[in-house]
Amino acid sequence: MALAIRDRSETRPTTGAAEPRLGASGGATARRGQKRGVGWLLTREAIVHMLLVGAMIGIVWGSISVHLAQQRREVEIRAARDSSNLAHTAAESIGQTIAGVDDALRFIGAIFSSDPKHFDIAVWASRVNRTRGVALDFAIIGPDGKLGASSLGTANMPADFSERDFFKAHVGDTLDRLFISQPILGRTSGRWSVLFTRKVVAADGWFMGVMVASVDPLWLTNLHQTLDIGRGSLMLVGTDGFVRAVSIASSQDSTRGVGQDIRGSALLAAAAERDRGTVAWSNPVDGTRQTVSFQRLTGYSSIVAVSLNMDDVFAPHELYAQQYKIFGVCLTLLILVTGCLLVNNTRNLLVSRRILKDTMDAIGQGIVMIDSQGRIPVINRRATELLELAPHRASSRPPTTALADPHAREGHAGGHGPYSWHPATSEKYSSYEEVLDNGKILEIHTHPLDDGGAVRTYTDITERKNAEAQIIHLALHDALTGLPNRRMFADLLTDAIDMAKNGGKGCAVLWIDLDRFKYINDRHGHRFGDRVLLQVADRLRGVVTGTDSVARFGGDEFCILQREVGDRKAAEDLAQQVVARLSDPYEIDGHEVSLSASLGVALSPENGTAVDQLLTNADTALYRAKEQGRSTFKRYDPAMDVAIAERRLLEQDLRVALALEQLSVHYQPIFKGSTYEIAGFEALVRWLHPTRGNVSPDVFISIAEESSLIVELGQWVMETAFVEATRWPESIRISVNLSPKQFSVRDIAGRIASTLARTGLPAGRLTLEITEGVLIDNGDRALAAILALKALGIRITLDDFGTGYSSLSYLRRFPFDGIKIDKSFIMTLFEDEGSRTIVQAILALGRNLNLLVVAEGVENREQLDWLRATGNPNIQGFLLGRPMPPEAIEAFLEEAGGLVLQNH
Ligand code: C2E
Ligand code: CA
Ligand code: CA
Repeated sequence: MALAIRDRSETRPTTGAAEPRLGASGGATARRGQKRGVGWLLTREAIVHMLLVGAMIGIVWGSISVHLAQQRREVEIRAARDSSNLAHTAAESIGQTIAGVDDALRFIGAIFSSDPKHFDIAVWASRVNRTRGVALDFAIIGPDGKLGASSLGTANMPADFSERDFFKAHVGDTLDRLFISQPILGRTSGRWSVLFTRKVVAADGWFMGVMVASVDPLWLTNLHQTLDIGRGSLMLVGTDGFVRAVSIASSQDSTRGVGQDIRGSALLAAAAERDRGTVAWSNPVDGTRQTVSFQRLTGYSSIVAVSLNMDDVFAPHELYAQQYKIFGVCLTLLILVTGCLLVNNTRNLLVSRRILKDTMDAIGQGIVMIDSQGRIPVINRRATELLELAPHRASSRPPTTALADPHAREGHAGGHGPYSWHPATSEKYSSYEEVLDNGKILEIHTHPLDDGGAVRTYTDITERKNAEAQIIHLALHDALTGLPNRRMFADLLTDAIDMAKNGGKGCAVLWIDLDRFKYINDRHGHRFGDRVLLQVADRLRGVVTGTDSVARFGGDEFCILQREVGDRKAAEDLAQQVVARLSDPYEIDGHEVSLSASLGVALSPENGTAVDQLLTNADTALYRAKEQGRSTFKRYDPAMDVAIAERRLLEQDLRVALALEQLSVHYQPIFKGSTYEIAGFEALVRWLHPTRGNVSPDVFISIAEESSLIVELGQWVMETAFVEATRWPESIRISVNLSPKQFSVRDIAGRIASTLARTGLPAGRLTLEITEGVLIDNGDRALAAILALKALGIRITLDDFGTGYSSLSYLRRFPFDGIKIDKSFIMTLFEDEGSRTIVQAILALGRNLNLLVVAEGVENREQLDWLRATGNPNIQGFLLGRPMPPEAIEAFLEEAGGLVLQNH
């Protein structure tokens, strides 16, 4: 179910396109909800639930009270019926009692009237009482109102009744009626009595007096014991409103209420209107709330009333009601608890719904759920953004096809709209990429659901794609110049070779290496060097045609792939152009620098049809060009490989020679310029090859340097020369050449020091000759090594000065003891004016920097004389002494001194 974030919005089946619920909530309600948050929703939900709970509780209590009221009404009706029945029974019973008393009065009255003279009241009273089983007291009052006789004797009775109501009533009454007096409290006995009276009339109608029966009121109403009236009462009331007899079950006092005046009561009022009836009243005797039923005793001016206590009547009902209320309370509690749970659950549901929605909206991916009908029950904010659906226009169609099923988009049948979903095609399109009109790239992943719908995620992979493209670019291009790098060049070359194989024209590889670039870097810094390289790149781009490619191989190496090369000339022309163009001066920040480049050219297919082969051959040609004195190009020639193979053979032989000690050291003397004394000898290595004869050090030293055999060789020369020098006079120094590679050995100074110690040569007699190459290749390291060597007392001389970069900055930076003017200047001293100028400058420089200058390659007198005249440097050369084997030194030393001095 997709209810989770739908916020009550319903999904109506739509025809054609479904309406997406945007922002996972749709409509205005949800947006309001969003603004006010969970709290608002809570109260609204809570109010509804509370009203519901309240209504349920109301219904419960309403029905309980209606039911109880009905019950109560029934109880009331039943009570009224009961009391009425009781009143009827009581009236009948009391009526009979009164009738009995009346009979007795009449009987005794008749006896008395028949024979007044012999009438004994006590005898007749006891006789009557015996037959009736009741102890009544009788008395006779005379016509004058005076007490005549009494069954109790006259002492206990008042003597005169003439003023009593009953007497007066009987005297004035024409009818013969029973009269029931108001209760009288006996003065001496303290007992209540009600007097039943009847007048006694003689046969002739003569008034003979009044016959009185004194009745205990208790006796009248003691029948209440047989009536089930509970805490109610049984009452005999005169129609005059005075209580004759009463029995209240709850009262201890049996005579309570007797004689009471209840004229104003509801009972009297009702009885005045009806013979019988039932009313509710508050009993005037004991004040309790009662339902009272009455019945008039016709002929006796009396009312019999039976009252039932309301509390008694309602007691069972109250218990019943109590149980009902407890039930109601329980039900209320149950509803309240259910209600609370409901509110809580709703809140939790809302909160989790909100959290889910917030989470969905916080996710950086667009998420859309499509149901099996192609409707969109869920769509998060990111999806609306990515698909550019206006959030407030839920029904707007997406401006892109990205939502659509790709299958439908491709025009296959069965599509219903942009959200249609075909389970059958889900496998195939579970993940694909889509480029939108705005340039964004989306990765669309579809996860089919069991019910036929699907969840689709949209990931913005634009940045990733761009980064990937960037990385690919970086991987294939040079960061500084933006030119393709070696890797990409290889790919381009592969394509070009393939094209040539498939009948196209051939291609050429032009490998370019800048001459002296390292020097520019060292001298002006890397930033400067980078700008030179940028200009070089620009110039190369300018030189090539549209079909050619320029690449940078790193450092100062570039390469051109020339396509559609018909003949060698085309390649050679381009190479020539490159050489010319790159040797034009460069201007950077007002500095003008000049540079040259060497090129090696290899052609495909004639020089190879494989990338590696072509590049190797171009490199070989480049090597040759460099050898040939730079600023030129060389086309590859298979003979070059022969030369290289040759060098390889020599390398192997040199290894053997070193092991078998086929090498020797010769020594060439160096003379002091002023005195022509022998200042020292330079050690120069010699190799007598078993088959080739003498091999020039210029050849085998460079081979040794390429293979790092030079380290071993140099060490051997040092040991040999040191041992030799110890045999010479102490004033004679020994110079040893040190190749740049030897400086890369760890702790070169320490090694030399230990060699000195081992051979016993004092460090002060040693001069090391180094070339600028040492300084260029490992500047800082070289400086440290030179300082360490100097600290040992060794002198350092800069060899071949003037041939390399001859940077004055080196002279300042490194603490040399001397410089050696390269023999090429001395040898061209008189052919080249430039040479003379340079030598003059070096000599002046030496003087200024206080450096010992040696001129080497002095072969004739003119040179010697010119040097003496110009700056008087130390002299080395064939003129004064050729390199010689050690065994010749002794003789040379002996011979030299005077001879040389004498001749010059
Ligand atoms: P270098 O250090 O410049 O040595 C001087 C070269 O000039 C030597 O050539 C020497 O024979 C030659 N020479 C001296 N006077 C004259 C002269 O008047 N005319 C002419 N034409 N040449 C003269 P060599 O012995 O053939 O050595 C060539 C180079 O080989 C040396 O140039 C040096 O760079 C290197 N080399 C020689 N021995 C060693 C060595 O033991 N270690 C190292 N690292 N390099 C060595
Ligand atoms: Ca040298
Ligand atoms: Ca030299």
